[in-house]
Amino acid sequence: MKIFHLSAECYPVAKVGGLADVVGALPKYQNQAGLQAVVVMPYYDRKFTQENEFDVVFAAATLLGNRRLFFEILKEKTNKLGFELYLVRIPGLLDRTEVYSYPDEREQFIAFQLAFLDWINYTQQTPDIIHCHDHHSGLVPFLLYHSKLYTRLANVPTVFTIHNGQYHGAFGWEHLALLPEIDLTQTGLLDWAGGINPLAAAVKCCWSYTTVSPTYLRELTINSNGLEYLFYIERAKGHGIINGIDTEVWNPKTDAMIAGKFTTRLLAKGKQVNKDAICTRFGLDPEKPLYTFIGRLVIEKGADLLPEAVERSIKENPGELSFLILGSGDKDMEAALLELKDKYPGQCNVFIGYDESLAHLIYAGADFLLMPSRVEPCGLNQLYSLRYGTMPLVRSTGGLIDSVIDFGDEGGYGIRFNQVSVDDICYAIFRAKVLYQTPAKLQQLRKRMMELDFSWDRSAKEYIDLYESLNPTI
Ligand code: ADP
Repeated sequence: MKIFHLSAECYPVAKVGGLADVVGALPKYQNQAGLQAVVVMPYYDRKFTQENEFDVVFAAATLLGNRRLFFEILKEKTNKLGFELYLVRIPGLLDRTEVYSYPDEREQFIAFQLAFLDWINYTQQTPDIIHCHDHHSGLVPFLLYHSKLYTRLANVPTVFTIHNGQYHGAFGWEHLALLPEIDLTQTGLLDWAGGINPLAAAVKCCWSYTTVSPTYLRELTINSNGLEYLFYIERAKGHGIINGIDTEVWNPKTDAMIAGKFTTRLLAKGKQVNKDAICTRFGLDPEKPLYTFIGRLVIEKGADLLPEAVERSIKENPGELSFLILGSGDKDMEAALLELKDKYPGQCNVFIGYDESLAHLIYAGADFLLMPSRVEPCGLNQLYSLRYGTMPLVRSTGGLIDSVIDFGDEGGYGIRFNQVSVDDICYAIFRAKVLYQTPAKLQQLRKRMMELDFSWDRSAKEYIDLYESLNPTI
């Protein structure tokens, strides 16, 4: 079974968030299960592409409106990622350093999708499944079935995975000419709320769509930035499959990015070594419970409430707590957090930026991880923290509901709260502090967390079952 995964991100080639982690892991596990899963993504001028070798396996030109674009398909030489990796390079368009945020992002991702389709079409490849991830590859299902250029591929089943339903990649009808040779009687499939909406088009045209957790599948009908009704009417095609984690990359026993490796057997000591390393580096007291937040500083993650929640907790529990925040995003949120750092040295520190190694160290050494998310399609941070025996404090939403059970409930190991409010966050922090004062109980819960199985094996199998249901010939 040959599966093409199409994505804007893939770890370790280019990562902005969880999308990269999933696309860097799922194909690997699918290959281990006997499929032939490959990843196709845009070329970025980054560390990975600079340090690795590639073969040019195809070169041609594609038409983007009236622009003729030369493109190349590069294949990573060694297959060391556990899957074949193909990069679409388009000089001047797909050869830049950043993944997102360019003013011509629309052209970038449309050109990426056209180059991919042209490549497999010219080379007479017929995938068993094309699996698109998020809106950056959301036009592929429409183009496959409704562009005259690709009629040869019109029977290929498509799966579309929504990692984040808040972002749609929408643009105006004046850009319709960027989509080549389409059947103009079918343009309604591209439409949502008066514009071309790649996420909506994908949901309408794909054979099946998936979300990265079962609860998020239901939540999209209530909150998806305007697509609620679409998700409601298309719900028969939807499947919620919770993400796994790459247990080779996220493994406290072998992780080279942490200060001291550990297992459940030497848990307390192992965590302490990492906590000491963090506290030394960030001027915090290793005796106090260490709370962290790792992630994008955006409203979606509830990061706007962090400054007030941290400050109130510090005031209500004087000298008893430590906080370390790692993230970047909204400039006002960054400034508010940096202000706290100046105001409460020794109790709160903040690292503005993106640092993969530091994230590993913090997952390993912190005591508690805060996730006050307003929206959380799956959330990977809580899964990583559980793997390293760090208790997640999560708002009950999306994948956080599907992966965290409150320690007050049968078999539980985390802390859950219902409202995205400073009150609820502070109360969760307080409950965690009380738990920290009973080390034996916390130790027992940490062991339970580390023994949980969030590996990809089970979820990868669910995707395979879905593929087989769509393409019984395989
Ligand atoms: P999202 O994709 O919405 O940002 P996820 O929880 O699915 O959220 O995935 C976030 C991923 O990005 C995790 O692997 C997390 O560790 C990582 N991450 C986020 N911000 C940072 C940062 N500033 N430094 C290092 N890693 C980060």
